[in-house]
Amino acid sequence: MNRRERAGIGMTSARTRDRLVERLRSNGIANAQVLEQIREVPRHLFVDEALASRAYEDTALPLGRGQTISQPYIVAAMTEELVRDEGDGRTPGKVLEIGTGCGYQTAVLAGFVRHIFSIERIQELFRRAQGNLQSLGINNVSLRHADGWHGWRSQAPFDGILVAAAPRTVPEELLEQLEDGGRLVLPVGAPGGQSLVSLTRRGTRFERRDLLRVSFVPLVEGIES
Ligand code: SAH
Repeated sequence: MNRRERAGIGMTSARTRDRLVERLRSNGIANAQVLEQIREVPRHLFVDEALASRAYEDTALPLGRGQTISQPYIVAAMTEELVRDEGDGRTPGKVLEIGTGCGYQTAVLAGFVRHIFSIERIQELFRRAQGNLQSLGINNVSLRHADGWHGWRSQAPFDGILVAAAPRTVPEELLEQLEDGGRLVLPVGAPGGQSLVSLTRRGTRFERRDLLRVSFVPLVEGIES
């Protein structure tokens, strides 16, 4: 891809991206590195061309197959929570992501962690994410077409786990795959009543924070082509 495509023009230009970053900052995103990644990652290349002019609005957009690319504010808030250090200098080295979608959240996270393992249950989206990440030269990511309910046991434990679709209750198998001190960030609940939850492992206990009301597609069992 050439520089012009990546940098964007018109409604996908640097000025448009700056406005999005300002909006996220005024809505409470404080981590400068997170804001910088949101500015850098070309969201317009992750959506259908017909939607590219809306890529830097702070809104979720359709991805096809009934799925959506998450709202930038939510991507930023989840990333900020996942990498939040409590004065212990902790930054997650190894992260599991469930619900790759088109790979936008993956690309934002890739700037912070050593390696991301990311799982998508719909093969068509898995392939699209593969293409998107490859064309941006992002290579600290391993993608897998599988059911994320079970995590990625052979690569566990993880310093962080981020889930981009909502289960009704927190999946036990994901908690088991967290490193001590590691953090799981996910939406939980039924449609219309979900909250974004953060669970930090402290030995056999989990410290829970409820962050905000959200609206995600459901975490679904099994895979599709
Ligand atoms: N963050 C993504 C969008 C996520 S939409 C982005 O930036 O594009 C949620 C995604 O979770 C969808 O692609 C959906 O297919 C996927 N998903 C739902 N249940 C899943 C499961 N059990 N395992 C893996 N992926 C799942």
